[in-house]
Amino acid sequence: MKVLVIGPGGREHALIRALAADPYVTDLHCAPGNAGISRDVSTHEIDAQDPAAVVALARELGSDLVVVGPEAPLAAGVSDALIAAGIPVFGPTKAAAQLEASKAFAKNVMAEAGVPTAMARVATNTEEAADALDAFGAPYVVKDDGLAAGKGVVVTSDRAEALAHAETCFEAGGTVVIEEFLDGPEVSLFVICDGTHAVPLAPAQDFKRIFDNDEGPNTGGMGAYSPLPWLPAGFVDEVMERVAYPTLRDMESRGTPFTGVLYCGLAITSRGIRVIEFNARFGDPETQAVLARLKTPLGGLLLAAAKGELDDAEQLHWRPETAVGVVMAAENYPDSPVKGAAISGLADAEAIEDVSVLHAGTTSNEAGDVIVAGGRVLAVVGLGADLHAARDKAYAGVAAISWDGAQHRTDIALKAANGQISVSEGTN
Ligand code: AMP
Repeated sequence: MKVLVIGPGGREHALIRALAADPYVTDLHCAPGNAGISRDVSTHEIDAQDPAAVVALARELGSDLVVVGPEAPLAAGVSDALIAAGIPVFGPTKAAAQLEASKAFAKNVMAEAGVPTAMARVATNTEEAADALDAFGAPYVVKDDGLAAGKGVVVTSDRAEALAHAETCFEAGGTVVIEEFLDGPEVSLFVICDGTHAVPLAPAQDFKRIFDNDEGPNTGGMGAYSPLPWLPAGFVDEVMERVAYPTLRDMESRGTPFTGVLYCGLAITSRGIRVIEFNARFGDPETQAVLARLKTPLGGLLLAAAKGELDDAEQLHWRPETAVGVVMAAENYPDSPVKGAAISGLADAEAIEDVSVLHAGTTSNEAGDVIVAGGRVLAVVGLGADLHAARDKAYAGVAAISWDGAQHRTDIALKAANGQISVSEGTN
């Protein structure tokens, strides 16, 4: 099977590694990729958001399957163009990707499908926003109703800050979704979908804030681990029954069946599970941790989904170890990441047993050095018998790598390792 992966980041590097381990995948390419991906497979400098360019490359390579990583190419209609060209694609159409691209659309689908989520209101001006903030009370949750790479959400107890975020979105011509605050631990569950059938991957948890103890602004994600030892038994089955299948049925009835990853961002609140958000693709950095444990060949799974031939009864196979991924980010991320620093110690980190280094924002210069080229630069994934052991591995890898201004969180998966996450018994 010849596979082309679209995207530039750490998620795509994780997909490439997992696909490379699939014995049926004989030929693997990535566009545009990054410095790490280009060490593993052939990369192609195209505009990944240009549907015609992606179709042309897939034709040239004779791809049997195209896997679209990020949200932007999905929203640009890359899947639609591939489908029209008769090329199997893993990733939703532009219409189905609205589940991520518009939070208001996602809320409508959830309401129609009876999926449990936070109560919410859409606001288009300051007055409506102020009313909604007062209706729900503090802490306030204000979301930009468009794609914002995980950074369009403000959660704060400061009413003025909440209103200011809404006004910034209005000034940019957008609308906002204001919703009730959901308490309780968060879980990311990736569900592989073929429009009708669905197979869940292992649950993961990610860390959105830039600093330890969940302080500072939201980022694209600073680390993740999988599986989650504190999850209640039956959690995944409940999400499939109450969230994934009702959503798939609703999308089908709208004439926009969903094929790809339905990423369910969930909160386990005192009143039961609630959807925080849907994304229409693999999450970054959870994918780096989740796929590190997958033993089932990934290419076959994604091709079956792309062709509408997924078997809901399929039981995926996982390595018994736990995976912890720690993101190393550039100086000043997430505000204005400083690029250009040379990275050292990559080979030392990768030489550590059960440590892998996945590249995100990297490029290489003429001398062959790997250079910081984005906000999130690397994800260092460690595998271990338990969370403590996996953390030790990941942080040993992080310690081997350095560049000027590099930053990372030191507490990824720490609370879970210390048994400090508790889940209240949901009642509905
Ligand atoms: P989103 O882009 O919708 O995933 O939001 C980003 C992050 O903001 C989530 O991962 C949560 O940590 C937080 N968040 C979003 N919505 C809520 C909510 N209703 N209550 C509490 N936290 C939220």
